[in-house]
Amino acid sequence: MKAVCWMGKSSMETRTVPDPELINPHDAIIKVTRTAICGSDLHLYDGFIPTMESGDIMGHEFMGLVEEVGPEVANLKRGDRVVVPFTIACGNCIFCKKKFWAACDNTNPNAHLMEKAYGYSGAGLFGYSHMMGGYAGGQAQYVRVPFANVGPLKIENDLPDEKVLFLSDIFPTGYMAAENAQIQPGDTVAVWGCGPVGQFAIASAFMLGAARVIAIDRFQERLALARSLGAITVDYSEEDVSVLTALKDLTGGVGPDSCIDAVGLEAHSNELQGVYDVVKTALFMETDRPSVLRQAIQAVRKGGTLSIPGVYGGLLDKVPFGAAFGKGITMKMGQTNMHNYMKPLLERVEKGQIDPSYIISHRITLEQAPEMYKVWRDKKEKVTKIVIDPWA
Ligand SMILES: [Zn+2]
Ligand SMILES: [Zn+2]
Repeated sequence: MKAVCWMGKSSMETRTVPDPELINPHDAIIKVTRTAICGSDLHLYDGFIPTMESGDIMGHEFMGLVEEVGPEVANLKRGDRVVVPFTIACGNCIFCKKKFWAACDNTNPNAHLMEKAYGYSGAGLFGYSHMMGGYAGGQAQYVRVPFANVGPLKIENDLPDEKVLFLSDIFPTGYMAAENAQIQPGDTVAVWGCGPVGQFAIASAFMLGAARVIAIDRFQERLALARSLGAITVDYSEEDVSVLTALKDLTGGVGPDSCIDAVGLEAHSNELQGVYDVVKTALFMETDRPSVLRQAIQAVRKGGTLSIPGVYGGLLDKVPFGAAFGKGITMKMGQTNMHNYMKPLLERVEKGQIDPSYIISHRITLEQAPEMYKVWRDKKEKVTKIVIDPWA
């Protein structure tokens, strides 16, 4: 089959690789009908996530048709149409039972690699390095899905793939970010990053009762999408724009009730601290560039909530923890507990409350994917979301 493979930092290749096979009785093989490139795939492309190996198959946002199931798979049969969550959960450990699916204790065979850095490992993820389980991803024609009784969501309607594909990650991730923001009716919510997760965080914030959402980015196509959802936008790249001042001005000097960091570890900043982070990460003295996190801690109102769906990987410098303490803010974060959100959000799509396909700007083939990684990284061609048809 054909698959998009990571060959090294800033190097992707579409290669012919062996078809996946059932390895254990709970596996299913899915014939991928649509897959997408995620913002967090850029952290792999840019070499920020260790333990990638040359030839690893990329991709954690995919859906398709069940091709084959192992003898222990009772919930699926050949021909079923499914969306697969990017986190792999066993369904039976103490964390799965508590519905902390992203903390599953049984799905990362390389947990010892994570334990060194994190104390404990979270769930295995598709296409996201060996320390996250070493699972082949879904930017391919076929993919092996472990614990297939637990993760895949059956799609039993005739909605096109593009309307349900994003239930695999970014829609639930944006929704959990809004839920983690503890929004009360009438609140003002600020969202840093109007990429795909930011977009769904904005839409979800309104669903959960926010009166106003202030969206912060520097790319006009993303700001335009945010405005189409009803957000007020702040372009931080404009001369004389200070995000902190703008947020104060828009909230009568109080600050937003909740702040959502939908950017994560590769934040861009045109302030001095941004230069500091670029130098420190280049010298391997810091692993992440947390300029959005710093700004959000400063911007949120006293007693407010900071929700962090943006991915962080390691050690952060100069985070104003004193400000977080002094203002008594709540922070909530982490990988998405996908399995809690997929079905209720599918129902919202079926009812027509949201059409997640509005963010798609590019529809491509597997052969075009390596070049599009570069376009996505460089934010060229007004790219907002790339969807791949593996059979085109
Ligand atoms: Zn993703
Ligand atoms: Zn589990």
